[in-house]
Amino acid sequence: MSQLNEKLAVVMQQALDDAKTNMGGENASYIPFLASVPSELTGLAFVSVTGEIIQLQDADYKFAIESISKIMTLGLVLEQSGADALHSKVGAEPTGMPFNSVLAIELHQGKPLTPLVNAGAMATVSLVKATDKEQRWQQILNFQSLLANSAIALSDEVNQSEQTTNTHNRAIALLLESSGRMYSEPLEACDVYTRQCSTLFNAVELATVGATLANGGKNPCSGKQVIQAENIPHILAEMAMEGLYDTSGDWAYDVGLPGKSGVGGGLLTVIPNIGALAAFSPRLDPFGNSVRGQQMIKHVTQAMAWNLFSSK
Ligand code: GLN
Repeated sequence: MSQLNEKLAVVMQQALDDAKTNMGGENASYIPFLASVPSELTGLAFVSVTGEIIQLQDADYKFAIESISKIMTLGLVLEQSGADALHSKVGAEPTGMPFNSVLAIELHQGKPLTPLVNAGAMATVSLVKATDKEQRWQQILNFQSLLANSAIALSDEVNQSEQTTNTHNRAIALLLESSGRMYSEPLEACDVYTRQCSTLFNAVELATVGATLANGGKNPCSGKQVIQAENIPHILAEMAMEGLYDTSGDWAYDVGLPGKSGVGGGLLTVIPNIGALAAFSPRLDPFGNSVRGQQMIKHVTQAMAWNLFSSK
């Protein structure tokens, strides 16, 4: 292990030991499956741009990826259509509102503001080039696997739980259709979006996704160029602007790195040219971000002086 990573492993362990005693927040309750995940699980993983891995405690526990899937489908559409084509249909503006906000669709003539909230994410799914729904889904799933360097699979249990309770997201899909902002059948796009949220990752697989973004789109574990280097800054910019929804500004203020959270308790942070940290812990703050995850990643990135906005 390199000297940098020896120090990092010590810092990560301290961060985890501190965060473990934090009983703040609650599991997501609006998706029945997520409410049943043991709340005390806590995992932390780092994957470097050279493919070195550090993993602690529950870093091999498989959790629902939820909103973190949004950055992966964003990458797929950038690869298929290019940055300008996507940007003309889905914006790159922070909403300052909850991830499932309907109000945010009213701004900018119905154009979704960002691929990283539900409206923009469903529009992005509808832009995946495919002949039918199943082919669209398979491409998204394959892309998740390439990024994670692992055979990612759908959890039928999570998917069932979400498909039967996603009335609000279906309404958003129909609203987008009514303003001409859906590019496939809207309820099919909502179905595929719900599936992409219902795949299972562990923290090491999630950190591998992040390390690929930190490494110019080349997965450091498989050596495959999964995303062209020119598309990476667009993904990281979106993560910096909107990755933690209506607390993205606070995250930038404290951490200064692109991040992405999911209501399954995952939290990914990319340190360009260095690697990525992935945390998992199901207790969420009121905005849908993992409480212990934020605490651990703040601790580690501050101790390692990784804030992109600091002068070295
Ligand atoms: N599947 C969830 C939803 O659409 C994902 C939300 C999230 O992780 N913030 O509501």
